[in-house]
Amino acid sequence: MLNNLTQRLSRVVKTIRGEARITEANVADMLREVRLALLEADVALPVVREFTARVKDKALGQEVVGSLSPGQALVGVVHKELAALMGPGAVGLNLAVQPPAVVLMAGLQGAGKTTTTAKLAKWLIERQKKKVLTVSCDVYRPAAIAQLQTVSQQAGAEFLPSSPDEKPLDIAKRAIAHARAHHIDVLLVDTAGRLAVDAEMMREIADLHAALAPIETLFVVDAMQGQDALATARAFHDALPLTGIVLTKLDGDARGGAALSVHHVTGAPVKFAGVSEKIDGLEAFDPTRMADRILG
Ligand code: GDP
Repeated sequence: MLNNLTQRLSRVVKTIRGEARITEANVADMLREVRLALLEADVALPVVREFTARVKDKALGQEVVGSLSPGQALVGVVHKELAALMGPGAVGLNLAVQPPAVVLMAGLQGAGKTTTTAKLAKWLIERQKKKVLTVSCDVYRPAAIAQLQTVSQQAGAEFLPSSPDEKPLDIAKRAIAHARAHHIDVLLVDTAGRLAVDAEMMREIADLHAALAPIETLFVVDAMQGQDALATARAFHDALPLTGIVLTKLDGDARGGAALSVHHVTGAPVKFAGVSEKIDGLEAFDPTRMADRILG
């Protein structure tokens, strides 16, 4: 999808870049193409509407029409608005609390929560010299606890074992006590996801949130999911005060839609991007660079 989006947008961009005069007619033509490209990339309709309205406003304003190379200026507007759609840049993790800083990982099963937990652990250990503890509150899938243990070891993080016999809330409380006793800087809490949003999962994670009082609640979402991801994002956003988003699988083919809409839907900044299955496959999300990539 991103490939298509990139192809279509670069075609539009090439055409308008050379325009010596920007008129309502050629702006309308361009916007029609942009709208189609975004819809094809599975960007939510309200997002597309707002985006094109903003570009139109600016395109017909002095900034473009009065400029020496209006085509170029118009491309600049599209670029800037595309980046703005994806939220503010360079928003790192907020860890400014009395340690342990708790980071709660939320999202559907398969979104990449466990992988991202380990990636974040490695990031915090290597770049910020933090002492990191991970714990899994997924008592429904014993394999999930074992998976977190394996990847935490790869990351060089401490791992607190938990068991399917425990209640998630009890694990959370035990983890906080352990982190305090062992002078942990950051406690990363992995949680159970389901295949789709359900009320019980939401209640459980809301309870965990209340018990842990995390400084960061990160919504992990598969960028390949398109519009489905947005309904999920909305449900999590309604249940929890999300502080950030991690877009995973941006290395896949079908990206585009979720990346462009998820900030708009939740209001939370996209903080990180997952770019491979490997433990070091995490990048700070940069909307400007993403816009560069999308515009080709
Ligand atoms: P969870 O159920 O949300 O904990 O998801 P997992 O962490 O188990 O990840 C599900 C699958 O997605 C695994 O096969 C991961 O290797 C894969 N995965 C996670 N993040 C990325 C990413 O950024 N890129 C790619 N290519 N694969 C990823």
